[in-house]
Amino acid sequence: MDILIVEDEAIVAKQLEETLHQEAYQTFRAGSVAEAKDAMEERNFDLVLLDWNLPDGDGITLLRSWREQKVAIPVLVLSANITVDDRVHALNVGADDYLCKPHSSIELLARVRALLRRDAPVKSSKIKAGDVTLDIIAREVTVDGEPVKLSAAEFDLLTLLMQHQNIVLTRFQLNEHIAKDFDRISVSNLIDVHIRNIRKKLDRPELIQSIRGVGYTIKHP
Ligand code: CA
Repeated sequence: MDILIVEDEAIVAKQLEETLHQEAYQTFRAGSVAEAKDAMEERNFDLVLLDWNLPDGDGITLLRSWREQKVAIPVLVLSANITVDDRVHALNVGADDYLCKPHSSIELLARVRALLRRDAPVKSSKIKAGDVTLDIIAREVTVDGEPVKLSAAEFDLLTLLMQHQNIVLTRFQLNEHIAKDFDRISVSNLIDVHIRNIRKKLDRPELIQSIRGVGYTIKHP
């Protein structure tokens, strides 16, 4: 699997490369719109990770031009401070998915895997677990059709758990996911507090199971 990384910030690009190499993906790097155009002409990629802000233009305009040329390759847009409007815009232009920067490696790999499988319901972006439905784009959660209000961190944790059903996520992974910054990762009981709140708000105490000494999981009913 060949992945083109279009990213001008060397540190970010390196982190992406290291993460993708963990899963033996082959990566190629373009640091600008011009380099991305050249790379796309030289090789058939399986996936493009596309930064929104590039030194000689923006990724979204580049993406639009690819889609106008009927380039159907899956594109994952990366951006810092992405708003709901930005997400909708990116998807309308033809992005298959988007990811806010910074993000955890586990989240990146999950998105990449899903896009390479091409079976991810990315555009509707709804995930279900029992009668709990989560909409990643709208950032809404419903239980039995009734909306439930979660904090940003609670929403992000629930999303990660719902995206990895039947997999036990460690406190470290969950912490990394919401901290999004290694400096802030601590071994406090913050995750446990969030999980307790999620259980209370959803009124589904059995949905998220505690795995003693490890972390948490959502099991298929
Ligand atoms: Ca950039």
